[in-house]
Amino acid sequence: MNDSSHFLILSSLYMLFLLIIFLNKKHIDTPELKIYKYLLITNILGLILELCSIFLCKMYGPNSFFNIVSNRMYLLYLCSYCLLFLIYIICMSIGEEKFLKAKNKIFFSSFIVFMFFGLLATFLPLEIYYGEYMYSYGSAVSTVYVLSIVCIVIALIFMIKNLKKVRKKVYAPLIMLIVGVTIAAIIQKIMPQFTLITVVESMALLIMYFTIENPDVKMLELVSLAKEAAEKANHAKSEFLSNMSHEIRTPLNAIVGFSESLKEDNIPDSAKEKVNDILMASNNLLEIVNGILDISKIEANKLEIINKEYDIHSMLDELVALTKARIGDKGLEFRVNLDPSIPSVLYGDNVRLKQIILNILTNAVKYTKEGFVEFTVSSVVKDNICRLIISVEDSGIGIKEESLPKLFSKFERLEVEKQMTIEGTGLGLAITKKLVDLMNGKIIVQSVYGQGSKFTISIDQRIIAVEKPVTKQQAASESKVVDANGAKILIVDDNELNIKVASVLLKKYHFNIDSCTSGIECIAKIKNNEQYDIIFLDDMMPRLSGRDTLKRLKEMQEFNTPVIALTANAITGMKQEYLSCGFDDYLSKPIEKLELERVIKKYVNKINSKSANINMFKSTKSVLDKELTIELPILSSTSSQEENNLSSLKNILLVDDNELNIKVAELALRKYDLNITSVKSGSEAIEKVIMNKYDLILLDDMMPEMDGCTTLDNLKTIENFNTPVIMMTASSEDEVKLKVEKHGFTGYLGKPINKDSLDKIIKETLN
Ligand code: ADP
Repeated sequence: MNDSSHFLILSSLYMLFLLIIFLNKKHIDTPELKIYKYLLITNILGLILELCSIFLCKMYGPNSFFNIVSNRMYLLYLCSYCLLFLIYIICMSIGEEKFLKAKNKIFFSSFIVFMFFGLLATFLPLEIYYGEYMYSYGSAVSTVYVLSIVCIVIALIFMIKNLKKVRKKVYAPLIMLIVGVTIAAIIQKIMPQFTLITVVESMALLIMYFTIENPDVKMLELVSLAKEAAEKANHAKSEFLSNMSHEIRTPLNAIVGFSESLKEDNIPDSAKEKVNDILMASNNLLEIVNGILDISKIEANKLEIINKEYDIHSMLDELVALTKARIGDKGLEFRVNLDPSIPSVLYGDNVRLKQIILNILTNAVKYTKEGFVEFTVSSVVKDNICRLIISVEDSGIGIKEESLPKLFSKFERLEVEKQMTIEGTGLGLAITKKLVDLMNGKIIVQSVYGQGSKFTISIDQRIIAVEKPVTKQQAASESKVVDANGAKILIVDDNELNIKVASVLLKKYHFNIDSCTSGIECIAKIKNNEQYDIIFLDDMMPRLSGRDTLKRLKEMQEFNTPVIALTANAITGMKQEYLSCGFDDYLSKPIEKLELERVIKKYVNKINSKSANINMFKSTKSVLDKELTIELPILSSTSSQEENNLSSLKNILLVDDNELNIKVAELALRKYDLNITSVKSGSEAIEKVIMNKYDLILLDDMMPEMDGCTTLDNLKTIENFNTPVIMMTASSEDEVKLKVEKHGFTGYLGKPINKDSLDKIIKETLN
């Protein structure tokens, strides 16, 4: 027996095993795997034919009919292997989808090529050398060489052309096959005794099995591709939601803008009421959009739990006050059972915990027409962990048993027809459940349809202190001492509900309470000579922050009212930061009773000791005020004249693709007496800036052909361009801040356009 026959027998055996394993393994029938299967079968046939030739040659002589037939069949095998291999590479390179579309064409042309070369290999002369070893030669053999070279070249072209698409590890066995077969062919040509080609082909198939075509690997690959596709889809969804929020804000901008301007017009009171309703509804809509963004944040795992120390009792008090405010005159009995033995200072995310409880309490109030809402909080303490058990029970509409599984699914509202009149999106409980999960808690629901529901939540929190440094009894007795004696307090907070809560908390100290919802209003009040003994100023307000408001207040002469920062920004180190900004003191939200009393006592004492002077000052001042009243209107009209002059004849360029938005912006800018030019695209804006000089550009960020950022990038290439550019946008604040910074906008103006923000921008940029 010839040397290479050992190789051939071994190769045939392991290839046979491979084929059996391959066929028995569960695999997905992709075109690639199918071609691989044909390659395996063809290769085994090739090995058998080659072995046959050796045996037949030995038994019947080299030029016997059987040996010639066997040799020519082997040549046909080589042709089919080359073509199948080429088809495999084409499939890999162009991808499954394209391959399936072109499949018929590819197989048909391969069949034609196979017929052509097959005929040549069958009928052209074939010589067989037989001595120490056996090999065939002649033009029939050369034909197969030509075909294999053509196939390898075409395969390489396909691979190079589709380099990016071909997965990296696919290269190794394919290159090995191309290089191996080429080397084997050359060796066999020079030293015909080594019949290596078929063995090399088998080796390549074996390597391919363990790298790319193993059904297990294939399945894992498909799973990872599916995961990738799902992640992409999820990302697309989040983007869609963010875009939708933008799209909804844009028409809302028009609604709010026109309503605001209508309100200022001379319209009858009944119409004003309707305008107010429109504004309220628009704000509700904005809240819904924010809820959608909240849930998409949770789903994209972008929501973080921020733990810190907090006073649970103050938080619960605040929740009770908020719920009372929500119940309003609905006539529900609100039962509150708060276990006084719950450790006072806990460690956890109080903001999220408050959101969770508030959602449940709000639902109870929403879905209960008459009867009661019962709020119970107790605790189980083990070591340094306090398990809070919070339950909210109501005598409301209840939930059907079959609806319970859907309760926490997003956008799922139960019995929609029955709840037509109750506002809601079906997002509240979905957000609540996700937050409870994030905090490693549990939520359960018990409900009897038509009778009521009970939501119970358990959440573990670390105990920092069982009692506050000052005991509750002491505090209660001290709170009697704390009396503001009618001192005037101004609460500035953009959230009206927060104002309500603070008012409820402050009322019992006999304060004379005034409030407003923005820094600008606060400044206006002080400018109008309204006197306050103390100001509680929220920091995180949309247009003018608390810090900026304070800065402006301090710029005013004679302003010396104590200002307390009232903020939800309660991370460590914040207190020092606020004090260094010039605030007299700091209170974190939710307002802790003891802290509040400490602050009141500190400033009430001051007020009390100053009160005699203040009263004197007030009386003198009122006389002065009276004397000045004739002058005041003139003064104020001069200042507003000045304000107008400040911006009169200034040129402003308004760029927005949406005509309605342009109208709204023009309406809002009307009062500043500006020379307004409006254009609807970035390219028009660039043309205008080249031809004219502007003092301010208001530039929309989302425009079809050229967006705001690209427009600004282009504007900056114009020589001597230094006009302030404000981005007008309906996108979320995080996104906007990034863009503003990256592209160098002077600032941004959110849509719906807010009067105060616009005021601020006009003043700051046209000064
Ligand atoms: P929304 O209240 O905005 O519709 P939620 O996610 O908060 O959305 O609640 C989902 C649904 O669960 C509600 O539409 C309502 O049908 C039902 N539900 C929630 N709380 C209660 C409750 N206390 N009593 C009866 N049904 C409730």
